[in-house]
Amino acid sequence: MTLFEKIIAREIPADIVHEDDLCLAFRDIAPAAPVHVLIVPKTPVPRIAEADDAALVGHLFLTAAKLARELGIAETGFRVVANNGPHGGETVPHLHVHLLGGRPLAWPPG
Ligand code: 5GP
Repeated sequence: MTLFEKIIAREIPADIVHEDDLCLAFRDIAPAAPVHVLIVPKTPVPRIAEADDAALVGHLFLTAAKLARELGIAETGFRVVANNGPHGGETVPHLHVHLLGGRPLAWPPG
């Protein structure tokens, strides 16, 4: 069971900001920006490279945009990112979309 499955099962506490049939969204434990939320599918797909459900992946992105509006960062701007594999910076092998905002974000990433 991945860490995020344990959070979905409420075995590990998290600051949950959204839940629906397909996903759970909660604040990152080590925020990299004033707003840093992880949007996680309830189906444990390991990473975007192995995802095949376009509706689910689209739902994660649209949920990120909805949360950006609700959390007050839609107008100033935000970033939605999925880290994949060692070079991508993935540390939890359960697909998740990061929603980051609340400050200017550098590009390109390090
Ligand atoms: P990744 O590096 O795989 O793209 O993202 C994993 C994220 O999960 C990291 O930003 C990390 O801070 C976050 N994280 C790791 N453990 C926990 C935890 O127990 N609770 C929460 N809310 N976030 C976590």
